[in-house]
Amino acid sequence: KQKGKGRSHYALFEERMERAITDFARMESALRTAISQDRIVPYFQPIQDLETGRTIAFECLARWNDPELGWVRPDRFISLAEESGQIGRLSDRLLRKACAAARGWPKDISLSFNISGLQLRERSLGLDILSVLGELGFNPARLELEITETALVRDVPVARESLDILSSTGVRVALDDFGTGHSSLRYICDFPIHKLKIDQSFVRTMCKRFESEQIISAVLGLAHGMGITATAEGIEDEAQMLALKRLGCDFGQGYLIGRPMPAEAVAGYLQGQAEYQRQRLSA
Ligand code: C2E
Ligand code: MG
Ligand code: MG
Ligand code: MG
Repeated sequence: KQKGKGRSHYALFEERMERAITDFARMESALRTAISQDRIVPYFQPIQDLETGRTIAFECLARWNDPELGWVRPDRFISLAEESGQIGRLSDRLLRKACAAARGWPKDISLSFNISGLQLRERSLGLDILSVLGELGFNPARLELEITETALVRDVPVARESLDILSSTGVRVALDDFGTGHSSLRYICDFPIHKLKIDQSFVRTMCKRFESEQIISAVLGLAHGMGITATAEGIEDEAQMLALKRLGCDFGQGYLIGRPMPAEAVAGYLQGQAEYQRQRLSA
């Protein structure tokens, strides 16, 4: 009897495994098709100078709207792309599209671009990115790469080599989701880091939890002490905005400032911002 029960459990397990494998295979091939057919497109979210209100950059955030699957979340398809060896190809095509769009923006607005941990372990990353910039005639000084601390944990020499090459041409590097990884402080010394992006979990709770505000304040002290800047992510309301300004945070990003938008919407957004600034000054 016991044995029979065991078998049926095992059969159930096998069934689940099979389903998981077919799901993975189906998603993997859907992703392959989506990349080939350019269905994964860059959206752009504004990053603002908190003192002046000026837009200093847009972060490229990948979006996939599949005719069959609908919207697939980036967390999901980025890790799928990593697991199925497609992240390099996806990132290359996205970077080209993002640079092409950013070429049409005012020259003082930068492009921020996310690089996955796996890519940093690829020896050719630095030269691959520079060759895209060269081909498209995109000024390296207008590009900022966002990397996560956890990405730096492995293969430190390979990652450092890429980041050093990129940095020497003027590309800047931001540590994304700062405060959520491990032994983060080491990396500020060991790598060419130009900016810290304070994770949205701290911003979300800063007006409710004293500790969060203290952590943000400490990170700002750290950044400024090292002669670099900080961006707060995930600003959703005025109270957070005011508190961050009061603490002297350099830059901000979040739904309050602007949601991620398709390339076609950027010009309209900038026009609206300029209008708003004019009204504010004349008021
Ligand atoms: P991230 O780089 O930390 O990007 C910030 C995420 O916060 C984005 O989620 C953005 O839409 C969201 N966000 C911005 N403002 C707010 C806000 O006020 N409130 C809330 N609740 N969320 C806000 P998204 O677009 O879903 O991307 C998730 C993550 O996927 C990104 O986190 C990034 O790690 C990764 N990702 C997205 N695009 C790419 C890409 O092209 N390449 C790589 N390697 N990773 C990417
Ligand atoms: Mg990012
Ligand atoms: Mg982030
Ligand atoms: Mg994140």
